Amino acid sequence: MKIAILPGDGIGPEIVDQAVKVLNTLGQSFEMETAPVGGAGYAAHGHPLPDATLKLAKEADAILFGAVGDWQYDNLERALRPEQAILGLRKHLTLFANFRPAILYPELVGASTLKPEVVSGLDILIVRELNGDIYFGQPRGVREAPDGPFKGAREGFDTMRYSEPEIRRIAHVAFQAARKRSKRLTSVDKANVLETFQFWKDIMIDIHKEYPDIELDHMYVDNAAMQLVRAPKKFDVIVTGNMFGDILSDAAAMLTGSIGMLPSASLDANNKGLYEPSHGSAPDIAGKGIANPLATILSAAMMLRFSLNLPAEADRIEAAVKKVLSQGLRTADIYEAGTTKVGTAEMGDAVVKALV
Ligand code: NAD
Repeated sequence: MKIAILPGDGIGPEIVDQAVKVLNTLGQSFEMETAPVGGAGYAAHGHPLPDATLKLAKEADAILFGAVGDWQYDNLERALRPEQAILGLRKHLTLFANFRPAILYPELVGASTLKPEVVSGLDILIVRELNGDIYFGQPRGVREAPDGPFKGAREGFDTMRYSEPEIRRIAHVAFQAARKRSKRLTSVDKANVLETFQFWKDIMIDIHKEYPDIELDHMYVDNAAMQLVRAPKKFDVIVTGNMFGDILSDAAAMLTGSIGMLPSASLDANNKGLYEPSHGSAPDIAGKGIANPLATILSAAMMLRFSLNLPAEADRIEAAVKKVLSQGLRTADIYEAGTTKVGTAEMGDAVVKALV
């Protein structure tokens, strides 16, 4: 089993190191190969997604990704910015289904910004479409406004679009995920304003006919944002587009205490996947040894379950994470009085030690 290790920028290398340490302790023979990506790819080869990195990602059975983004590259033209690496990988490998579970560990109830009675026991799954929407729609750019009250003025524009096959494939993934859980699916849209999302909703309703055992409801994205902080446990599985999913999953992250706790999987139609923490490269804390590596370690567990068919090993990692939390170990982002503050590497070592 070959795993492409793409640490990236900022805290990426620090947190990926911890996940690699954990993988190496499982007693399995993984072939791991590391390649630069993002700002590190640009620094090494002049491109955020160098050809050799893309080739490795294509050959591998799974990809473990850290994060990309670095302020020093913010003035590069868009095509060369670090963030293009992750967008490129999603596109080149057709990773269209992004799974972001938001689970609140009982030990971290106090680290959430919400009241314990609102969040305790939270276990929801956001399924975000990753290959379409305004992120990739063409045309886009800056031009002279062709009409409207400011005709002739400079304007920035993007295009929101979803094709029927794109909506159908993410709908099937979401209905099937809901079937494995509590059989409830909420499709989040903005059908009251956007043509693209009326189309999305109509297709969701159509595909629902193939899943009569699943309860489907629809919610506008503004209401969904509100409900996520008001009564998040009302949700089970949420399916939504690329843009709304990006925003809602970060909001859901905070429910769990810290974005440093949230893993994610981005899968193609054959369950090949890229696994990464839901957060970015956190340049503000990079190199300080204080980043929380648990989202990355939990992403490695998802990799074992979804792409490498090693569910028992995934369970072992998740149990080890629960164990270190119950031992009271906390990185700075989830620290509370009465617990023990540890750094990135210490947290990784503790998970390794807790593996049974
Ligand atoms: P971010 O997620 O990097 O950081 C947001 C806040 O959360 C920061 O205060 C940071 O210190 C904190 N944080 C994030 N991960 C943490 C962890 N593991 N432990 C402790 N604290 C953590 O988001 P941002 O600041 O908006 O973006 C920084 C860079 O990351 C930008 O260049 C952005 O484009 C990039 N980014 C990359 C990805 C990706 O690689 N998939 C995703 C999001 C943002």
